[in-house]
Amino acid sequence: MAISTFNLYSVGLGPSSSHTVGPMRAGKMFCDRVKDKGFESQVAFVRADLYGSLALTGKGHGTDKAVILGLSGHMPDGIDPDMAELWVKEIRSDKTMRFNDGHVIQFDPDNDIIFHYDRQLPFHPNGMRFTVYDKDKNELFSKVYYSVGGGFIVDHKEAEHDGPIVENDHKLPYPFHSGAELLALAEKHRFSIAELMMENEKSWMPEEEIRKGLISIWHVMEACVKRGCREKGILPGGLKVKRRAADLFEKLTDPNRKHHPAEVLEWVSLWALAVNEENAAGGRVVTAPTNGAAGVIPSVIHYYLKFCEGATEEKVVDFMLVAAAMGMLYKLNASISAAEMGCMGEVGVACSMAAAGLTAVLGGSNEQIENAAEIGMEHNLGLTCDPVMGLVQVPCIERNTMGAVKAINAAYLALRGDGKHRVSLDQVIAAMKETGESMRSIYKETSLGGLAVNVPEC
Ligand code: SF4
Repeated sequence: MAISTFNLYSVGLGPSSSHTVGPMRAGKMFCDRVKDKGFESQVAFVRADLYGSLALTGKGHGTDKAVILGLSGHMPDGIDPDMAELWVKEIRSDKTMRFNDGHVIQFDPDNDIIFHYDRQLPFHPNGMRFTVYDKDKNELFSKVYYSVGGGFIVDHKEAEHDGPIVENDHKLPYPFHSGAELLALAEKHRFSIAELMMENEKSWMPEEEIRKGLISIWHVMEACVKRGCREKGILPGGLKVKRRAADLFEKLTDPNRKHHPAEVLEWVSLWALAVNEENAAGGRVVTAPTNGAAGVIPSVIHYYLKFCEGATEEKVVDFMLVAAAMGMLYKLNASISAAEMGCMGEVGVACSMAAAGLTAVLGGSNEQIENAAEIGMEHNLGLTCDPVMGLVQVPCIERNTMGAVKAINAAYLALRGDGKHRVSLDQVIAAMKETGESMRSIYKETSLGGLAVNVPEC
């Protein structure tokens, strides 16, 4: 099993990687399978069945919109958020769509996307089935997919063989499956974690392309922050949540403002708010490692570039590589899906990744990096996922500010130590997995417990 850094940072639309980016990708993958099978020209109807968490929080997370876009041939990375809104509106009103961007078929989202609130498919709580029919409503082809977190998709056959993890047979020069293995490999070959990750990435593409690619992903994060700092108003979805980043930005840049010691924290919160408000509004964000937690890493990188001496954009590449190494460990040994791990799998993982990345660019040793990642998760253990009205807004937007602040604190705690510590990263990941598995499903992206049932909707 080999995961690339680029799998963890993918550009897509908000508000959710598992419920928006993943289903859109799955819809498009299904269309391509139909084409490969030679059925495309016969397709007259298509139906999407959503199960488990995809059904329970699918409406608030925009899963129906994502499915419509995927089945009409769009992928999340290249799509324009404003055009996407328009296309979905047209399909809803005309009750027709271009299947895989080809011929026009009948499609009424209200009848052809079915939310199975009381059923879950085997292997993962985020399951979906797509089925195509000919003009006489005879079934042509059907396929099940799972959205396993961070926009990753697994089909039913893969899940049957390997569990809900994306398998491939790519061979990495320095494969690692645990924090201990990563540290041992780095020590043996005298690499920093960033160097080891770069060597692994070079097995996919040349170094120049990797650097360019990561910087361009960073620029998408930066653009998202900029837009989030400009946009005002109420977020969509009916919860009437007011966007706060633009007002806060004005206050923090007012030349007459009164400075105070916690101003740095306010900046950190601002950058996270900006990203997650954009995400909630369906804007363009980078999964890091998910959409719900997309604000943590950009916020901590902004903190690094604005406040840390000697910071350079070049070093942002190292930040992202090291953070990705931690994300891979969570993906391999636990999960980055809130439907499996609660918010530990999203904001908890993002906090741990950001803590490691910051420690690396501030000159931390490999052991200090591992320590920072461990601290970043240790104090997120037990974090539930209970979004009010199924929207990625409350508690999600503020929670990213907390994740970013904690990540910075974790990095400095680790940097003040010598890398030796009582709880290892592997142990904390094992504790996270056990906690997530024993957490009741009402706290795992179903909106059936916690804040979701204790906060009145309006
Ligand atoms: S509570 Fe956390 S995991 Fe759940 S939707 Fe919000 S950000 Fe994602």
